[in-house]
Amino acid sequence: METIEEQLSPEELRELGISYFRNSNGDEEIRRNGLRMLLRAKAMGDVEATYLVAKLLLDGVISYNSPDPESFALDMMCDAANSGSLRARAHLNAYCQWRYKKEFSGRPKVTEGGPLVDFSGKTIKLNRKGLFTPVDAVLTYENGVNLLTIRTNLSFIYTDDIPSPEKFEAAVRRGLRLWEGMYTVFCGQKLKVKVELTEEDNLYDNLYVIPVTDYMGKFLRTVGTALATRERKAQIEEALDHKRSFASNGIKWTVNSRKVIYIQSEREGFDDYDELTAVACHEFGHALGLGDLYESRVDSLPGVAKGTYAELDSYAVTEKFYNLVMCDHHGPISNNDLEMVILAFLENKMQHFQPGMIKGKISKALGRGN
Ligand SMILES: [Zn+2]
Repeated sequence: METIEEQLSPEELRELGISYFRNSNGDEEIRRNGLRMLLRAKAMGDVEATYLVAKLLLDGVISYNSPDPESFALDMMCDAANSGSLRARAHLNAYCQWRYKKEFSGRPKVTEGGPLVDFSGKTIKLNRKGLFTPVDAVLTYENGVNLLTIRTNLSFIYTDDIPSPEKFEAAVRRGLRLWEGMYTVFCGQKLKVKVELTEEDNLYDNLYVIPVTDYMGKFLRTVGTALATRERKAQIEEALDHKRSFASNGIKWTVNSRKVIYIQSEREGFDDYDELTAVACHEFGHALGLGDLYESRVDSLPGVAKGTYAELDSYAVTEKFYNLVMCDHHGPISNNDLEMVILAFLENKMQHFQPGMIKGKISKALGRGN
């Protein structure tokens, strides 16, 4: 015989389940039944049910027998967030932020106002701009505010038509602008970040954005890989195989190197705009001189183990996975990321989270707090 439950949609099952669970009035059986329904909705692929279960776990309302229950719950929350639950995304980010504040509030500040100084107390002078600087970074101090202006001229290159280039471009621009905001860097100093995007018809000095359509994909597989080293060839092919977007910053990232963002989409029409925005945000991080934070065998990246850097630990989801934009493109941009951007432009060197193929040093921003 079919029970009433079996006729319910995952959404109905979830709503009924959480209502039973919360309003059991101490009746253990009703509570258990509610949880069972919630778990069933989750198993049926209901993302909001996944969020609710993860929240109950994180709040300690229910428990799961795991060596690291917090990681288990955060991983589930991250899964719900990346499957489109806005509540899960907000909860995950707030949870990381809460851990971050717990770790870093109350640390001594290096200065009380004034122009931005580095770890050694030296005033930071940053004025990277000009004809061969595809992404400008200019630091100013006015009316008590340290302002980092990141300016770039976008040039979109299409090899095939896509249905709605305007919407695609708007999604990319949104992703780049996500870097705007207020940050705390170099031992407690406030930094405001502004992103200015222009679209002039420049011959030089552009940040190129290329949607990898069918034709472009084939082109990259032939011409692109022919010019590349064996390792780079493998990386490009892997990225193409898995529809992973990637950035190209010339042979080596410098302030003046050519900067290209290749954007791939799971959807032929390049119309998964939220995803494109998140991807553009991550890839812009590369154009700003940041390395990847995730573990990747094909890129010879070992990953960064939890417990290595306090700045990253607050954002750790699992052993080597962080809710941070350079690890998971849906993740937030942290204070540490901005510190690394400034150091990249200051030192004219890419800032690495981990040792990579090109043996770059680990960024000085790591392990010092923000
Ligand atoms: Zn990346």
